[in-house]
Order: sequence, then C-alpha cells, then structure tokens
Amino acid sequence: MPVVKVDIDTAAPAHPEASILIIYTGGTVGMVFDEEHQHLVPFNFSQILDKVPELRQFNYLITVLSVEPVIDSSNVSVADWLMLASLIEENYAAYDGFVVLHGTDTMAYSASALSYLLENLEKPVIFTGAQLPIGLIRTDARENLITAMQIAATKANGKSLVPEVCIFFHNLLLRGNRSKKVESSHFDAFKSENYPPLAEAGITIDYLPNTLLPHPEQAFKAHQKLDDGVAVLKLFPGITPHVVKSVLQASEVRGVVLETYGSGNAPTIAWFLELLQEAIDRGVFILNVSQCDEGRVDQGRYETSKHLLNMGVIGGADITTEAAITKLMYVLGLGLDAVKTRELLASNLRGELTILKD
Ligand code: ASP
Repeated sequence: MPVVKVDIDTAAPAHPEASILIIYTGGTVGMVFDEEHQHLVPFNFSQILDKVPELRQFNYLITVLSVEPVIDSSNVSVADWLMLASLIEENYAAYDGFVVLHGTDTMAYSASALSYLLENLEKPVIFTGAQLPIGLIRTDARENLITAMQIAATKANGKSLVPEVCIFFHNLLLRGNRSKKVESSHFDAFKSENYPPLAEAGITIDYLPNTLLPHPEQAFKAHQKLDDGVAVLKLFPGITPHVVKSVLQASEVRGVVLETYGSGNAPTIAWFLELLQEAIDRGVFILNVSQCDEGRVDQGRYETSKHLLNMGVIGGADITTEAAITKLMYVLGLGLDAVKTRELLASNLRGELTILKD
C-alpha cells in the first residue's frame, strides 16, 4: 500500500500547540457524492479544508498521509496493519499525536492489532471514521475528526494525556482493544461493554480518572510481525464434528478463538472434547472467549467449562473477539515457546482484559 503525502494549507502557526499526523486509509468517512455518476467515490484529501474549514482554527501543525488506494475497511489486511505500525514508527518522533481515519466495519480489529504492535506507546493513536460521508450535510465525520484531533493533541504536565490506541466515535473515547462496532446505522456505532469509556465529549471533553493506561517506562517499539495462522470457531447448538474439524484441523492453524456460551461454557459431548484435546496436543493454542458482549469467561465455574480448563484451553477473561484474534496473531508472531505463549495469551498486555484478583 503506497502512501501519498497530501499538503494542506492550514497556515501552520509559528508556535503550534501540537503537531498531528492524520493517516487516511479510507472508509465511508472519506466519501463524497459524484454528481456525474450518481454514486459515492473516495474523496481527494487535498480538499479537506473545503469540507472541514474549522481545521484552520486549530493552532496545530497538521500533516496528512493518504494510503493509495484508499480502501473499504472490509478489505483491510494484516499487511495494512503492519504498514500502519511502520508509518507511525517512522513519524513517531516528529508528531505529538496520530489520528487514523478508517472505515468503521473493521475499526475495532485494526485498533486492537495496532495496540499490540505499538509497544510502550506514549503518544495517542486515535482511530475515527464516520457513518455518513464527509461530503454530506448531516455528516458525523466533521465532529469525529475534530474531536479526535483535539484528543490527540491534549497534554498534561508536558506528556500526552492518552498514551494508547483508542477509538473516538460520536461522543466516546474508547480503548481500541475493548471496542466493538455495535451499530450499522446510528451515529453511536461503538461500545466497550467491559471497560468504561476513557472520555466523554460534550460541551467539554471529560476524561475519566484512572481509566487510562499509565505512561510506559520502557522505550517505544513497533513490532513487525503478525501470524495469520489463526481462526475463530463460534459454537452453536447443533454444530457438527465436520465443522469443528474443518477449523481445528485446518493446515497452518496454530491458534483458535473458541467463542463459547455464557461464562465460557461448551458442549461436553465426547467427540467435541476429543477434537479439542487432539488440537491442543498438536500444539494449537485455544483461547476461550464468551459470545456474550458483557461479562467474562470463568473456566471451571460450570461442569461445561471444567473440561476446557483441564485440557489446557486458555481462558480469555473479558476480552472481545476482535482483541482476542489479533492478540493470537501478535503473540504467535513473537515465536516464543509454548509455556511463554500461553502465559502471554492469558495475561493483560495492553489493557485488553481484566485479571480479577482473588
Ligand atoms: N464499509 C465501510 C468501511 O468500513 C463502512 C464505514 O466506513 O462506516 O470501510
């Protein structure tokens, strides 16, 4: 995916409050209506000031990088995530904060993937997008972009206030790896059921105390490897051995998110447990994630999850599927031994899950 620098004349101030890099990847946010062909087409970012003239009022240095071609986020790939991580790494020292304009459909996956790839992040990386194209009168793109930029520029005691990968949408700042797209038509498209919002934007942007990740003590590092040998197996009553086998025995699958019922429960029928055990014995890592949006996996609470615990299925606590599948890609990509891999999968790496204290 090549990248094009779009120069926008924001009359860069002599003493800017902050410098922001916007990375435009595509999605509805960047669409305008083509009168001639009567359909939506990607918008040329050099016209951003015509669509959002308010940007001129920011006392920020603003640079825009646009990927080529821009994509509908349904087409986002592992290579795109690695490219985004590299772009942020290359520009890390030069900017105070980063705003990634992205389609909403897979934004929660991309924000999760980037949260793992960008280790010891001390600057904001704020994903945002829109339900209505920037070229439409009622668009939500303008508000989302402007507030995301403000958040990316905010500092306290000389340090970025939000040292993490987030999604800002409608009025909520959410941790990226806790977010889910929950709406395909309303403007409040994202929720984080198992973690409070980091901030709410109304007349002021109110940050919720003690929700943000602490500033890291180690140096920033962008990882460059994700292992795509992963799959999601969603259970449903009536699932057959054939379907379970096709996932667990697929060649090159080394990690599986098992989407279970309730607090991590699964059928106890012999063929199912045998297939799982056989996969684990072959070295496949199975991460148990609940189909419930709210709540957590607690393996061993019911008889229907005790077997999973005993055979070595890893409990995913209150992680989302989006954060779990990208965590598998990241942790498997580190190429560690089985014990360390299991340990990392069960631990809290970037605020993506809550470990309960006994
Ligand atoms: N299909 C679009 C995308 O995810 C939807 C959106 O941007 O809201 O790229």
